[in-house]
Amino acid sequence: MSPVIASGLGAVVGALVALLVLTLVRRRRTPPPPEVPDFPVADLVSILDAVRAGATLLGPHDDIVCANETAEKMGVVRGTRVVIPALLDLVRDVRRDGEMASVNLDLKKGRGRTATGAQLSVRVLPLSLGRVFVVADDRAQALRMRESSRNFMSNATHELKTPVGAISLLAEAAREAADDPEAVGRFTGKIMAESQRLTDLISQIITLSKLQGESPLAAAEPVEVNQFVSLALDRCRQLADARDVSLTSSLQEGLWVLGDPGQLVTAVSNLVTNGIAYSDARGRVVVSTRTSMVDGVEHVDVAVSDNGIGIAPEDQARIFERFYRADYARSRETGGTGLGLSIVSEVAEGHGGTVTVWSRLGSGSTFTLRLPSVAAPDTEPEEDQ
Ligand code: ADP
Repeated sequence: MSPVIASGLGAVVGALVALLVLTLVRRRRTPPPPEVPDFPVADLVSILDAVRAGATLLGPHDDIVCANETAEKMGVVRGTRVVIPALLDLVRDVRRDGEMASVNLDLKKGRGRTATGAQLSVRVLPLSLGRVFVVADDRAQALRMRESSRNFMSNATHELKTPVGAISLLAEAAREAADDPEAVGRFTGKIMAESQRLTDLISQIITLSKLQGESPLAAAEPVEVNQFVSLALDRCRQLADARDVSLTSSLQEGLWVLGDPGQLVTAVSNLVTNGIAYSDARGRVVVSTRTSMVDGVEHVDVAVSDNGIGIAPEDQARIFERFYRADYARSRETGGTGLGLSIVSEVAEGHGGTVTVWSRLGSGSTFTLRLPSVAAPDTEPEEDQ
């Protein structure tokens, strides 16, 4: 940034800070901040860099006073100029009228087959002395989310229709077989299984939609890893016995993470349930906990290993998608809904962690839930006052 331009910046910085603060707190009404007479230019650069959107401050002659990297990556600015003619026109209108304006822009970068598109939502705000502030958000991400929730709705409807349709056909068959008690018993048994399936499906859809609306770290508490892992193991023991699968653990003591205990129990239970469901009789599922270092940060790994059917490489890339099953028949036979792993993935993400899979067809799988570790809370008894 040129020192000449920078020297004229002090006067607008107060107004700019106010605008940025307003943007960051989502337009919550706050009293205006006090004047900041010697606001260093370096601080302005840091503020713009901290804004996730593309942020650009333009001078009175459309010159770029300051722009963050995102604005450059989005193609809003190149070098010292704004390169989108429609945006430049809007900047001039806003400067002339003194009123904020917004526009959606569909940009095309490059040519021919290598061309890529960007869909931006841009707001342009007038400042003092002919300066203008431009904030650009990537609309493609919002559009992707809308598309994904539309897909989810149509998949969920389809999935719900299957057991409902089956129940209706089975009830009809049971009525027609009224004078054959054995057949009636068979049909009602199937009706009960389909009702259970419907209940599981509804409860997992509710779990998933709750997870999407909540941020577990907002009200997180320190949770001892072995405690939530042991609760998950208890929850799955009956299923393991019923399927003749051995369930064992190897747990490191004294590991803690920050999070929502209920969600963490659900995530580990889902992994263990799958380990059992996709193993044959006399299979083995082992749950272990230990620490690992990632980029100098200590994490806790909860690994769930089985020696079951394994997952083909092409399926490994998709199993965390909602309703995706590598083997539909097996998932149906074991009461699967196709949502278990997407719930684990949501929980991991909400806790600032990850879930990954290693697997080989015919040999088994290991799923690892990795969460940032925290120090054990201080358990020293408080001294009497
Ligand atoms: P489901 O309810 O069908 O088990 P999930 O989301 O839990 O749904 O898992 C998605 C798919 O991933 C499963 O249908 C199955 O094909 C595969 N899968 C998950 N865990 C395992 C495992 N431990 N071993 C083999 N396949 C697995």
